[in-house]
Amino acid sequence: MAGKRPRSERRSLARETQKELERRRKLFQSLPGGSAEHPLQVASASVIETRAQSIPCALCQAACVVRSHTATALGQRRLRVVTLGCRGCGEPQVAYFEILQAN
Ligand SMILES: [Zn+2]
Repeated sequence: MAGKRPRSERRSLARETQKELERRRKLFQSLPGGSAEHPLQVASASVIETRAQSIPCALCQAACVVRSHTATALGQRRLRVVTLGCRGCGEPQVAYFEILQAN
């Protein structure tokens, strides 16, 4: 039989979950592509969206879809910022790419 959890315990579980989600978001941001300081490097702009969609949701690992793709610059670096939306939980996440200059 599944007894109901007391309210206070449920609330602390929710808090734990929030902390866990926050931890996963931070982890994602610390990985390559998770911040403008550490973009994923690609040879051409044409591969960016495919690459971005192969990054699973930081929270639930479901696949994401590209919502927007914009070009920006960080000093001398040309960056692309791809906003993804998770198909599973709806979490938005942002991936950063740098297009390497052909020599
Ligand atoms: Zn998700």
